Amino acid sequence: MKKVDVVVVGGGPVGLWTACELKLAGLDVAVLERRIARTDQSRALTIHGRTVELFAMRGIADRFLAEGKPIPTGHYAALDTRLDFSSFDTQFPFTLFLAQSRTEALIEDHARELGVEFLRGHMVESITGDAAEGYQLSARQECGVSVFGARAVVGADARHSIVRRTAGIAFEGSDATVSIMMGDVRLKGANGPPVRTVSNERGGVTIVPVGPGGVARVIVIDPRRMRIPVGEPLSLEELASSTRQVLGEDVQLSDPTWLSRFGDETRLAARYREGNLFLAGDAAHLHLPAGGQGMNVGLQDAMNLGWKLAAVLNGVAPDALLDSYQKERRPVGAQLARNTLAQGAVMTGFDLAHLALRAEMSELLELPEVNRRLAGVLSGFDLRYLGGDLFGDALGVGERVADRALRFADGTYTSIYRLLSRGKWLHLSCQSGMRMPLPEWLHPQAVDFVSASFAGLEVRDDSVAACLIRPDGYNAGHTIASGVAATNPA
Ligand SMILES: Cc1cc2nc3c(=O)[nH]c(=O)nc-3n(C[C@H](O)[C@H](O)[C@H](O)COP(=O)(O)OP(=O)(O)OC[C@H]3O[C@@H](n4cnc5c(N)ncnc54)[C@H](O)[C@@H]3O)c2cc1C
Repeated sequence: MKKVDVVVVGGGPVGLWTACELKLAGLDVAVLERRIARTDQSRALTIHGRTVELFAMRGIADRFLAEGKPIPTGHYAALDTRLDFSSFDTQFPFTLFLAQSRTEALIEDHARELGVEFLRGHMVESITGDAAEGYQLSARQECGVSVFGARAVVGADARHSIVRRTAGIAFEGSDATVSIMMGDVRLKGANGPPVRTVSNERGGVTIVPVGPGGVARVIVIDPRRMRIPVGEPLSLEELASSTRQVLGEDVQLSDPTWLSRFGDETRLAARYREGNLFLAGDAAHLHLPAGGQGMNVGLQDAMNLGWKLAAVLNGVAPDALLDSYQKERRPVGAQLARNTLAQGAVMTGFDLAHLALRAEMSELLELPEVNRRLAGVLSGFDLRYLGGDLFGDALGVGERVADRALRFADGTYTSIYRLLSRGKWLHLSCQSGMRMPLPEWLHPQAVDFVSASFAGLEVRDDSVAACLIRPDGYNAGHTIASGVAATNPA
């Protein structure tokens, strides 16, 4: 039996990112993935700005930015008024278009650089044991079965998760009620801008460019075909005929690289933890892919779970820290289920009442505060983890920390996100001698202590004097010289 600290079941983006975080913190981790080769499907095209920030906190954002295409806006329910990210305090006020196959490849590169053991062709068939004694996993390969022992298991194994079933965690929700067609195809003859959404009494079409030479993702909601089961194969002719019907244009679709249907099945795991079995990504939440969220939320689950699990297994934090994973992330999963159900209700009705609802909502989205509210939820920029027992109630607890340039006493520069790249807590003294108390359970060994001032910002009464930042880039409290509240550490 091969023994490691953690086995991650599932080597999709969420499993791989979880493994990276665990390895960065010094744990021995193996990822077991049933597939022999990576999928070449473009699936999650949208990477939200907050996810690019996570990559920046581990020093690899440039790799995604070099390949992806920034799109300044996003969408909610394919409404005509687009979501605007320009008002967020971030270096990445956009969504980045990149095929999921490339995102997975870049995360896999990062995992291999860190030394994660990534084993393809390993289908986990059984998990036994418990948190006290450890877990044993059997994985079937082409030529036999391997057995692994682990202190903890992360289920990033999506819809039919064996980890979730072993843990006896219910996957509550509703079956699919509609099916939507999509294809990555070469497109000729379509009018309008590169990103285009059309909704009328005949149905809905969204066209998004995915590659050079007119390759586009075409998503079609045809009311006459919405009851076809999601699992039924889709032909190019069916997609083309519905596209022409809705658009009323003689568009030509050819050279499909992926044809599929997806639906609005919506489920949320009743718990994210049972003993030392944990769920993340699609294993914890399933929903209509609308607004580009599933992979993003899953990667943020991974970022939340990784450092906590590592800290507990490394003995520098109490087991109770792991309960905060569910406390912080399950509400995000619940909000994801809610907003995608709502988007589905708006997107899949084409009678006069639904078209009127779309027009009203589109108009409401022109109000900056409404637009920002939805943009903040979908991007993750506005997510705040409310304090709770473990993180106390110091100023700013749970707020997302925006990146800032920092200047050391010797005149050299760095930035907050760069300092987070080791995956440790960051205690920043911005004014000489100023300190934040650490939570009493937190071992100082888990913290990088740094003295540096905010570059280019003059010190005011409400400037942050010291702050404590979690490894996932959320504020664990800050103090200011005068005792007046400041929102972000700047
Ligand atoms: C059409 C479409 C468009 C989408 N667009 C977006 C988007 O723009 N943005 C976004 O954020 N999300 C989007 N999504 C959702 C996104 O694709 C998923 O949320 C994402 O893939 C979830 O990642 P994951 O790692 O949790 O699961 P997966 O990517 O499904 O990976 C799970 C892995 O576990 C493996 N596995 C399962 N069982 C076992 C086992 N027993 N043993 C070993 N391995 C196992 C599987 O082989 C698989 O590789 C879209 C989805 C679809 C269908």
